[in-house]
Amino acid sequence: MKQVIVSIMFLTFASTISAQRVSKNKQYAIDQAEELSNLTEELSMQIWQHSELPLTETKSSQLLQSTLSKEGFSLEVGMSDMPTAFVATYGSGKPVIGILAEFDALPGIGNEAVPKKLPREDGTTSGHGCGHNLFGPGSTIAAVALKRTMEAKGIKGTLKLFGTPAEEIGVGKVYMARDGYFDDLDAVIEWHASTKTEVRNVSSIAINNFEVEFFGQSAHAAGDPWNGRSALDALEMMNFGVNLMREHVEPTSRIHYVIKSGGEAPNVVPDYAKVWYFVRDKDRPTVEKNYDRILNIAAGAAQATGTTHKVTLISGVYEYLLNRPMQVVMYNNLKLVGGPEYTPEEQSWGKKLQASADKPTVGFDGSIVPLADDYLQSMGGPSTDAADVSHIVPTAGLRVTTAPLDVPWHSWATVASHGTYAGVKGAIVASKVLASTGLDLFTDPQILEDAKVEFKRMKNGRVYKTPLTMDQKPPVPGLDND
Ligand SMILES: [Zn+2]
Repeated sequence: MKQVIVSIMFLTFASTISAQRVSKNKQYAIDQAEELSNLTEELSMQIWQHSELPLTETKSSQLLQSTLSKEGFSLEVGMSDMPTAFVATYGSGKPVIGILAEFDALPGIGNEAVPKKLPREDGTTSGHGCGHNLFGPGSTIAAVALKRTMEAKGIKGTLKLFGTPAEEIGVGKVYMARDGYFDDLDAVIEWHASTKTEVRNVSSIAINNFEVEFFGQSAHAAGDPWNGRSALDALEMMNFGVNLMREHVEPTSRIHYVIKSGGEAPNVVPDYAKVWYFVRDKDRPTVEKNYDRILNIAAGAAQATGTTHKVTLISGVYEYLLNRPMQVVMYNNLKLVGGPEYTPEEQSWGKKLQASADKPTVGFDGSIVPLADDYLQSMGGPSTDAADVSHIVPTAGLRVTTAPLDVPWHSWATVASHGTYAGVKGAIVASKVLASTGLDLFTDPQILEDAKVEFKRMKNGRVYKTPLTMDQKPPVPGLDND
C-alpha cells in the first residue's frame, strides 16, 4: 500500500525545469538526476530506517559507497581514523570539484513518519531530525548525475564526493580538514535540509564541543559525608557559573550542555561526574574567548569543591565563509530547477504535522527565497563543520525544503517529515541543483577565478588553523577516548 502511494506521488512530481534557457549539457545533467530520483528516494528511506549515530553510520555510509562504486568512482575509506568516512573520486586533472555528503542521525528523537509524536515501533530511538538521510543521497546522486554528464560530454576534471560522518558533533570534516583532504580542491558545493528553499547567504556560527569530568571522593552520604568530596557538586557549581555568565555574553552566543554522568545513588557521594558542552558564537575568536571563560569557571568549581577536573576538547568548528560568485551560480541553477512542489495530500499531511507541533498550519513552503544583494549578518543559529571546508576552499551551500514551515528542527517532527516522500523531494531538487552547479564549475573557468578572488577577500589574511591537536583521535564509540 505504501509503495502504491509513493508511486502515485512520484508521478505527480513533474520535473520543474522552467522556461529559462538551459544548455544541452545542463539539461542532460538534470535529466540524469531526475532519472535517478527513485534511487534518491530508496537511499533516503533506507538511511532514515537505519538512523545511525555519529561515527557508527556503518550501513548508511556503505549504501552511499556502493552506489558510487557501482557507478565507477574509486573509493578511499576510513580516513582520519573514522571507519565511516570516505572519498569517492571520478576523473583526473584540474579542476577538482568536491561535493559534501552527510548521513548521521541524532539521539532520542526517533519517530514514525506520521504527523504526530509517535516513537518508532521497532524501538529505534535515534532519528534524522536534521535530514542527513536526505543530505547524503541528494549529494551522492548529484555526483552520479554529474559524472555521467562528464563522461557523456567529454568534460575534463576531477569530481570528489566526500562522505563526512559525525556532522552532528562537529567532527567529520574537522578531522578530514586537519589531515589535508580538502587541500587540493578548487571549489566545494553542499546542501542541507531545511524548512525553506534558498542559497545559503548567512554564515553558520563557530563552536567548541567539549567535555568536563570532575573527580571527587565517595563516602556514605549520611554516615560520613565529611569524608566525601562531591564531583556532582563541582559539576553543578560549574553549570551555575556558566548560567550566570550568560548575561554577559553577546547576543550571538549560544551555550548548552547535558549531564552525562552525575552519580549512581543518593547515599553515595558521587566521586565522578561528567558534563558535555557546546559553546558557540559568531566566529572562532569569540568562541575561544568564551571557551576560556568557561574553563576558568570549571577550574573554580573544582577548587571550591575540593575536587579535580579534566577538560577534553572533542572538536571545534569555524564560522562559514560565504562566496558570492558561487552563490550566484547556485542561485541561477536553483531558479532553473525550481523548488519542490507538493500535492494537496502532502500539504494536508504537513499541516497536520504543524498542528501537532503547535505551529501555524500553512504546510510546506517550497518557494525560492530571493538571494539578497549582500551577505546577511548571523544572529546566532546552528553550526556546521562544512564551515571548516569553507575556510580551506571556496564553498557554497544550498538549502531545500524538506519539512513544513516553522516545525522545530532537531525534533520528532522533522524526523517524521524526513521519512516521507515530501521530504525526499528536497533531496531530488538538491541533486539537480548541485549537479548543474558542479557542471558550471567544471566548464566555466571564470567562475572559479572569481570564486578564488572572493575567497581571498573573505579570508582577509587568516590562515586555517585546526582547533584539534595533530595527534587527537575522533571519538569513535568503543575505540578510544570515552
Ligand atoms: Zn544538519
